[in-house]
Amino acid sequence: MSVRRRTLLKVIVLGDSGVGKTSLMNQYVHNKFSQQYKATIGADFVTKELQIDDKLVTLQIWDTAGQERFQSLGVAFYRGADCCVLVYDVNVMRSFDSLENWHDEFLKQVSSSPPSPNCSSSSVPVVVYANPADPKSFPFILLGNKIDVDGGNSRVVSEKKAKEWCAAKGNIPYFETSAKEDYNVDPAFLCIAKAALANE
Ligand code: GDP
Ligand code: MG
Repeated sequence: MSVRRRTLLKVIVLGDSGVGKTSLMNQYVHNKFSQQYKATIGADFVTKELQIDDKLVTLQIWDTAGQERFQSLGVAFYRGADCCVLVYDVNVMRSFDSLENWHDEFLKQVSSSPPSPNCSSSSVPVVVYANPADPKSFPFILLGNKIDVDGGNSRVVSEKKAKEWCAAKGNIPYFETSAKEDYNVDPAFLCIAKAALANE
């Protein structure tokens, strides 16, 4: 009898409020898009099962509940992340300029997670989280969202500019997406899952 192990991968999604983080997740997980702006959702994360080669993978995708406006997401949000997805809106320059902050904030938060307690004298199992803080090897992915808006006429960040930023950060993969039109959402999340799996 063969036993197939299911791998749980934690993915966190960061970026300015309004860039479409929740919409991208909804499109990917529920195949739904809503024009209505909801700053909060009920759950901390949503899950999606997928198969990568012969591996069964559960992606656990963590969304913010609007606290990104205050940049106070808390340690639990960041802890144990296997991949960090950064999102900006190609029509809003400020959301692109903020990427630097989100990138730094992620690395700061994961490197300041408290060390796992020494449990040699205890029978209580302790979950040991890998420290993912190596900025050169930790998998980030960048999504430039809302490319559908005004047929592309209102975009202010070029693909070239975005790719230059990614190259400077150690060749972060880049996808242009539309949560509204379901453009490139599945390929982006497949890349995210593979990156998270490689980091596992
Ligand atoms: P979040 O704050 O980053 O989670 O952003 P939301 O997912 O709540 O989206 C903010 C607003 O942008 C909502 O009104 C969405 O309907 C809209 N939106 C999100 N993604 C897209 C997109 O790809 N195209 C368009 N036209 N609107 C989008
Ligand atoms: Mg949201």
